[in-house]
Amino acid sequence: MTENIRNLKLIKIDAASRQVLLQRYTEYANFEFRQRTFMEEEMRTRLSVKDPSELPAGYSIVKAMPNREQVPEDAHQCHYCTDFAYFSLINCTNCNINYCIWHNVHCGCNVPAVQLIYRFSNEELRSLKQIVKLAVKQDRAKAHPAGSSDSSSLNL
Ligand SMILES: [Zn+2]
Ligand SMILES: [Zn+2]
Repeated sequence: MTENIRNLKLIKIDAASRQVLLQRYTEYANFEFRQRTFMEEEMRTRLSVKDPSELPAGYSIVKAMPNREQVPEDAHQCHYCTDFAYFSLINCTNCNINYCIWHNVHCGCNVPAVQLIYRFSNEELRSLKQIVKLAVKQDRAKAHPAGSSDSSSLNL
């Protein structure tokens, strides 16, 4: 979905499909934001009871996905629900397992083995939404140019 959005100007889809894309993307992104907030809080709580000496230098509860452009969007599946993890995942380096962020760590491991990996930052997810929103707005402007159609039909 994000690849479609980033290539929105190149792919051939009609106005109705762009509208659907905006709705679906907004839903996904809102779920994602809520779950990120929840999981980050959860990870901070886990971290807060750890002795700093148990943590590797520079450990952070969240890491940006390395080389994401080389990693297909459907490369990561949740070990628990088998859904694809498009926007983010939870990785356990002990077990070499990935989870989606809805499925908290079922292997029983803890930080620092466990880390949140974000393919897109919150800001990027928001700017992707702006791209589709703008395209939908332009579609509407084209369908209803100012002074024509809707407003003039009222004068009949
Ligand atoms: Zn899952
Ligand atoms: Zn584990």
